[in-house]
Amino acid sequence: MYFEEISAIIKVNLRKLGGRTLLRAVCPGEHARRNSGPQLGTIGSNAMIDQYGRTIDYLRLSVTDLCNYRCQYCMPAEGVEKGPHGSVLSVEECGEIAQAAVRCGVRKIRITGGEPLVRRGILDICRTLRAIPELEELCLTTNGSLLPELAKPLQEAGVDRLNISLDTLRTERFREITRRGDLEDAFAGIRAAEDAGFQNLKLDTVLMGGVNDDEIEDFLSLTKEYPWEVRFIELMPMGPCAAWPKERFLPVTEILNRFPALEEIEPNGVARRYRLPGAMGTVGLITPMSHEFCGACRRIRVTADGKLKGCLHSREEISLRGLHGRELEDAILRGILQKPKGHHLTEHASDTPRTMNEIGG
Ligand code: SAM
Ligand code: SF4
Repeated sequence: MYFEEISAIIKVNLRKLGGRTLLRAVCPGEHARRNSGPQLGTIGSNAMIDQYGRTIDYLRLSVTDLCNYRCQYCMPAEGVEKGPHGSVLSVEECGEIAQAAVRCGVRKIRITGGEPLVRRGILDICRTLRAIPELEELCLTTNGSLLPELAKPLQEAGVDRLNISLDTLRTERFREITRRGDLEDAFAGIRAAEDAGFQNLKLDTVLMGGVNDDEIEDFLSLTKEYPWEVRFIELMPMGPCAAWPKERFLPVTEILNRFPALEEIEPNGVARRYRLPGAMGTVGLITPMSHEFCGACRRIRVTADGKLKGCLHSREEISLRGLHGRELEDAILRGILQKPKGHHLTEHASDTPRTMNEIGG
């Protein structure tokens, strides 16, 4: 009932303000205390601001839960079963949801998965999203293995930036972590991305104590020679790695203790950034395990089966399938209203019953 009321007020105000609306979402508890409903005001362009004052302008859209790898921390060894036709969002549904999100204030979309490059129609999805006039940035996260065939077409389809996941620089270890990948394919993918003209490549490395933390120096060395950003990301306890031993969950800030030569530069979003003296590239530290991260979170997520998630770690989901126009926008705004202040990963594993490949990392 509460959300229906809010929806009605939002609709009226959106109409009154011709869509140029700032929604300051208010949680049910606060709503009852203030007895004033959601606060609306104009700021010259659409923006979604949640009840904790965070601007929400970044959508991570998962286009498949399937993958050609089986990374030990992400997916079960047996993989996931391919669902029946229609179990994942169609190209048209992806486009419609993205358009509604942009009307609500989203300015950056990251396509993810599973492995987005195994998705049939991935180039159509990219082209459809790129055609949304107010979308400022279209990014994609990939394990890189299919970039030799797809880097150029992705660039032509309008993808602005690529993140390539790479957890190790050692052949045997790569095979162990991914259970089936080949490091040479990942390197070939990085080269193909560069050849296709992608700049500011980001390499994402999940830091795992006792698994790859002996390679930090090798990863840092890459930034001396290449203009890439190597980003170390903390392992989050969810899915297959939820019960891993404590020592695997290493704070990435440990890197600063081990490599004091790293000089801090300006941050970017949730990444604190550093540079080695004279290096061409940069180093990013991403600390999803800390609450500081949640305070700066600008994201919402849509799973491959069309569920909106305000937080990666929450159980709350809103089904977007079958909704159109205003109804779809209202559902997205409801998702923002439900976005929690933070996760509880320092106390226990993620609350979501889903694995990362299902949600889209
Ligand atoms: N397949 C693509 C890839 O690997 O880049 C995109 C999807 S993957 C789920 C997105 C990112 O999530 C990857 O960088 C992956 O390493 C990361 N990831 C998966 N499970 C994680 C976990 N439990 N903690 C931290 N990062 C995780
Ligand atoms: Fe696939 Fe990416 Fe998950 Fe690895 S991290 S299994 S590449 S979805």
